[in-house]
Amino acid sequence: MVAFPLGCGTAEVIVIGGAVAGAATAAHLAAAGIRVLLLERASVPVHKVCGEFISPDASAMLAELGIDLTGAAPIEHVRLSAGAGRADAPLPFRALGFSRRLLDERLLMRAEALGAEVRRGVMVRAVAEGGGVALADGSVLGAERIVLATGKHDLRGAGRPRGTMLGLKMHFAKVPADLVGKIELRLLSRGYAGLAPLENGRLNLCVALERDGFESWPALLAALRMEGAEPLWPRPLAVAAIPYGYRHRGEGPAYRVGDQLAVIPSFVGDGIAIALRSARRVAEAIVAGTSPATIHASLATELAPQFRRARMLGWVLARPRLAVAAARLLPRLLASAASATRLRFPM
Ligand SMILES: Cc1cc2nc3c(=O)[nH]c(=O)nc-3n(C[C@H](O)[C@H](O)[C@H](O)COP(=O)(O)OP(=O)(O)OC[C@H]3O[C@@H](n4cnc5c(N)ncnc54)[C@H](O)[C@@H]3O)c2cc1C
Repeated sequence: MVAFPLGCGTAEVIVIGGAVAGAATAAHLAAAGIRVLLLERASVPVHKVCGEFISPDASAMLAELGIDLTGAAPIEHVRLSAGAGRADAPLPFRALGFSRRLLDERLLMRAEALGAEVRRGVMVRAVAEGGGVALADGSVLGAERIVLATGKHDLRGAGRPRGTMLGLKMHFAKVPADLVGKIELRLLSRGYAGLAPLENGRLNLCVALERDGFESWPALLAALRMEGAEPLWPRPLAVAAIPYGYRHRGEGPAYRVGDQLAVIPSFVGDGIAIALRSARRVAEAIVAGTSPATIHASLATELAPQFRRARMLGWVLARPRLAVAAARLLPRLLASAASATRLRFPM
């Protein structure tokens, strides 16, 4: 086993994955004086499949970490639509649209500034037997504690149950005038699409769809009435088998954060807040010497009400016409649903 070469001995903590959850965990640990090494497989900043809707809880936790979101697109209204039907309502809070490529990069730079070592372009294969992590190049790095933050991607031996939903994302050149300051949730027969403005005047389209309901990207754009919009990439980003509803309770050798700990349905738009919250709680647990099993069980219990409310809302949204009709009749229902699905941890 190769020791973590930061002068002497092995790393106190290795964090696997350097997006929201991993970078925030590394930042908290480094701020607490822990020697931390973060391994990220991408060698340059990359886009992630995400609606890029930053909830107020996420904004507050990012501010606490010293992350500047100046220039983010303000989002103060919500629209629910299905076919030609639509309902609009003011959001009961102010959210932001901010691209993940930029956000994750700022978090990684913050972790580095606080003293974490960040290595990019390092692919981890598995958590090694007896501790440490096995890399794709065949080497093994030692550490006293390991944090699993690989998000939507599972490591060998640490898999989650496979879901049936497919996630797709594309950026478009312009935000249509009627979507400025607004997030729109377009309900489809086998899923939903989120449209949100971003910091650079672009529009993010992010879709979660049952795998067998996906025909082709052009057919999906036609169903969303977006054939005329100007895409910025040759093809969409995609992620398969999203395990919505998953909450890790088990033991295992590693601490889990972000989507490796829990995967909230994405229409709630609070996965980033859960990633940031779990990062802070797991960092505190590591500093206090709390075991992975104890902190996982505690986080699973804390998240249970939010997951329950998301499940109930999911039942309504799976009936597009009913959902839009109810929201048109009582626009306050939309605002209440948006509030009800927020993170309710003490901050
Ligand atoms: C369709 C969809 C829409 C969503 N919309 C929103 C939204 O609008 N708002 C919101 O708050 N949440 C949203 N979410 C949820 C949010 O995207 C996730 O909760 C969040 O990305 C979790 O962050 P993470 O750091 O755990 O994982 P990820 O963002 O998946 O990042 C994992 C990181 O680990 C790295 N990695 C993976 N495998 C390895 C490996 N083997 N070795 C080294 N590095 C590795 C990856 O390169 C990546 O950088 C959405 C999710 C989906 C699927």
